[in-house]
Amino acid sequence: MPSTELWPGVCDFHVHVGERIGGYELRDGFSALDKMANKHGIAAIGAFVTEEEGISLTAKLRAMRDDAHKHFCGRVHWHLTPVQATVEEVLALVRGGCDVKLYTTYKNAGLYSSYKRIGRWMEDLADLKPSLLVHCEDDSIIEKAGAEHTFKTPFDHTLRRPESAEITAVEKILDLAVQHRYPLHIVHVSTPQAALLIREAKTHNPAITCETAPHYLLYNSERLKGKNAHRWLCSPPYRSETSRGLLVELLQDGAFDIVASDHCAFTDADKDRYRETPERVPNGVPGLATMFASIYRGLVETGRISLDRLVEFCCLNPAKLMGIELEKSFTLERLLTPEV
Ligand SMILES: [Zn+2]
Repeated sequence: MPSTELWPGVCDFHVHVGERIGGYELRDGFSALDKMANKHGIAAIGAFVTEEEGISLTAKLRAMRDDAHKHFCGRVHWHLTPVQATVEEVLALVRGGCDVKLYTTYKNAGLYSSYKRIGRWMEDLADLKPSLLVHCEDDSIIEKAGAEHTFKTPFDHTLRRPESAEITAVEKILDLAVQHRYPLHIVHVSTPQAALLIREAKTHNPAITCETAPHYLLYNSERLKGKNAHRWLCSPPYRSETSRGLLVELLQDGAFDIVASDHCAFTDADKDRYRETPERVPNGVPGLATMFASIYRGLVETGRISLDRLVEFCCLNPAKLMGIELEKSFTLERLLTPEV
């Protein structure tokens, strides 16, 4: 008999929906998200609004908010990426309850911010201090590694975006957060060394938090070999088995505040179009629907973490970061519903 005990829904802090990324319309809009949420017990998400040519950040947020209100029953917390927006415009949006996401890479997509610029944002936002999310991969290391390793197969992605890129960027961004006493959240940590640096920095600035993603805990870079490997291209890439094992130990030790999916699904047609030219394959993998169930099967059933810890990582702690309260309204059976 399935248990009737009720649990809070999944609260996924890092979800890409209803946007265009790198010229591609994401597979999932808010209607698709709503279906997924009902089926798998997802209560809330943190969604991204990236400023684009031809529309202000304010107008894009408004349009996405309307879209979400119309089609999605769960709660949404908004992470904003300014490109051209002024500090005043961003501050006005932050007053409405949004936070800010910046990138240390992706020059071609126009998203790159230098370390200096990120430090300046911390100064400019100092009065309100919204949480600052940062994608940490050092762009100069990536440029150099990219020049050294041609992108012939999906596995080359691991050489072109090495662990050292993440570790270096995390170290520099942590220094800034400690120096400015700024609330920082480092997204999708994929390397044990970066997680250790974050743990150390938290002793100097307790307002630092971080996440890892299910794919770094459950899979390794072997997934980037073989048939359809290009479908698993995402950044940062999957890491070695050694790194994956250490990340699980660090999760057990409490080095991560939350687990978030970094759900960024493209249609198979978009993922497959340039399968022979991996450099042109859009980066991102789905994960929202399967996050809770896959970690349950991979780490709870195998005795690595308890169910209560899983609920903290995927439901309670992210809800705290979003400043929301979750009601206990889902059965475990619902949270563990398989995707197909
Ligand atoms: Zn992301």
